Amino acid sequence: MLNKMTVKDIDCRGKRVLCRVDFNVPLDTEGRISDDNRIVAALPTIRYILDQGGRLILTSHLGRPKGQPKAEFSLKPVADHLAMLLSKPVIMAPDCIGSKVEQLAQALEDGQVMLLENVRFHPGETTNDPQFSSQLAGLAEIYVNDAFGTAHRAHSSTVGVAQLITPAVAGFLIEKEIRYLGQAVTEPVRPLVAIIGGAKVSDKLPAIENLLDKVDTLLIGGGMAYTFLRAQGFTLGTSLVEEDRIDLASTLLKHAADQGVRLVLPQDHVAAAEFSAEADHQVCSNSNFPDNRMGLDIGPQTIAEYCQIVSESGTVLWNGPMGVFEFPSFAKGTFAIAQALADSKAVSIIGGGDSVAAANKSGLADRMTHISTGGGASLEFLEGKELPGISALNDKL
Ligand code: AMP
Repeated sequence: MLNKMTVKDIDCRGKRVLCRVDFNVPLDTEGRISDDNRIVAALPTIRYILDQGGRLILTSHLGRPKGQPKAEFSLKPVADHLAMLLSKPVIMAPDCIGSKVEQLAQALEDGQVMLLENVRFHPGETTNDPQFSSQLAGLAEIYVNDAFGTAHRAHSSTVGVAQLITPAVAGFLIEKEIRYLGQAVTEPVRPLVAIIGGAKVSDKLPAIENLLDKVDTLLIGGGMAYTFLRAQGFTLGTSLVEEDRIDLASTLLKHAADQGVRLVLPQDHVAAAEFSAEADHQVCSNSNFPDNRMGLDIGPQTIAEYCQIVSESGTVLWNGPMGVFEFPSFAKGTFAIAQALADSKAVSIIGGGDSVAAANKSGLADRMTHISTGGGASLEFLEGKELPGISALNDKL
């Protein structure tokens, strides 16, 4: 599926390997890592390179320091955590470029690992500055990209460096992400069902457009459903409607009908008096929606219908929650979908930060086939876009 070289295709014994990982982990108020999923997801590639005798130099960003060193965005806590996971020391570099870092890189021995300081402490990273790229590239003889979460960004550490170091290859995480996401859209076990939710239809329109000629069924939920329902002529109180997208929603409804795709919209909703966790709420259907309420979750009939469709599917791609799942009163729809996916035999692939968070919160994450580590990257993949961080790698011979 991935037509790029991977770490399996190279010999890294005795070589300095610069590996871009996505260690952009959440930290709590005391600077402790509150979720280490992204670090754990990079371990297979890290362990493989070290076991092969590579001299590993890891690079990542953390947060948005906006091109300046800021202590709260230091990767030091990640180095400590990684050392614990690997049961071996991880050298923490004081920066990601410069003479001190070059010396540390040169001094690495086979099987040793060093983590560079936050690559976004330099403005050249996000502008893909050639000089910054060449300083980073100068550290190593081999480049590995395993940061799926930033593969949609053309930055120095994802694209610039890949163009300067040969070989430039993919790590196991990128390979796995492309395998699952790619298979789901090119050769899925059918029927292929996409469940698209989240707040704004404008964010997801390109993905919906691209998926329409691939899926058998498209289930829409979350705030974005209201723009589609408005396009069908329903009035939905104060629910989130993007007026300037109603025409586009109509066009998509027509495309779906023309292509024989079953596009399903919610028939009922949990409608609240206001946008708050404690808001008074009731179930309303499309045709009896009060003027002074807003839909914050899909209703019980819609849940039953969507779960039934999931139970009959071969592959399900899920991106975006069905309601304001951060508020327990409006989380039922989202968690019911997570449960239906966990119970079904379908290949289940979850992408998008919030649906991943919901799957994790539901405690059902390990019953899904694949949970993508890249929200933006997986959405761009579903939009049919090329991911620059992957395009820049060397083609398989
Ligand atoms: P997105 O980032 O586009 O996937 O959207 C996720 C956000 O959509 C979550 O924070 C949800 O609270 C929000 N959301 C889901 N359903 C609704 C709704 N009916 N009205 C307003 N916001 C919603």
